[in-house]
Amino acid sequence: MSSCDQFREMFDAYALGALDAPDKAALEAHLATGCDDCAKSVAEARWLVSQLAYTSPESAPSDKLKGRLMQTVRSEARSSKTASLTKTAAVPFWLSAGIAALLLFTLYSAWNAHRMQEELRAANERAALTAQTQRTAAQQQVAAMEAQLALAKRENAILSDPATVKIMLAPQKIQAPQLVAMWHAQYGIVLTGQKIPMPSGNHVLQLWLIPKAPGAKPMPSEMLRPDASGKFVMLVANPPEVVAATKALAITEEPEGGSAAPTSAPRWVGAMT
Ligand SMILES: [Zn+2]
Repeated sequence: MSSCDQFREMFDAYALGALDAPDKAALEAHLATGCDDCAKSVAEARWLVSQLAYTSPESAPSDKLKGRLMQTVRSEARSSKTASLTKTAAVPFWLSAGIAALLLFTLYSAWNAHRMQEELRAANERAALTAQTQRTAAQQQVAAMEAQLALAKRENAILSDPATVKIMLAPQKIQAPQLVAMWHAQYGIVLTGQKIPMPSGNHVLQLWLIPKAPGAKPMPSEMLRPDASGKFVMLVANPPEVVAATKALAITEEPEGGSAAPTSAPRWVGAMT
């Protein structure tokens, strides 16, 4: 049982082809002993990864995703190596919470897009069968689902493209986890967080783009409240094309409906690197 435990966190990376050679060899040797539990977990991870192929608008999604993950993994590895006292870290570097969260969100996003595509096809079939009088309502439903699917595909494109810039937003004088922004110049920004505290009253969390130009005012962007479990997923589908002209991203708490200029001190701030 203890030998299975050491492999438990490797299945996703293995299915993505992102596992180190020694870990890969160890896991494959273990699978060769005929462990049903681990074989089943690997099969599940492979199924999830295979869903990426259905959903990404890019022609070679798995390579791009792999590249994106490995790029993140390498930078995490560099920072964890400089931080650790011994050369052999107690925990594999790709197990860090940031990587795990990014991987899970990417897989979730791909799965979600695939599920919506299936629903859309079913809705289209229903629309084709419906009597003329009901057809307009069904067509509106299809249009709404198409819009939702387009957003999910955009999220996938942002998360899997190596050109995407990652920005960590640190909490300012509040007890809260950091937020992660992924910004692609054409596709937009995905901002995610877990266990994010609920703003008071009807207030919302609003995103601001802080320009590099001296004296330039923060540019207002989207606003959102975390869900009941504290999950926060914001998509800015059409950001101004100002990645290079932006110094930082900031989040403030604003009255319902948002503000044209910040009315409170930033709760999270992340500098562009
Ligand atoms: Zn096992």
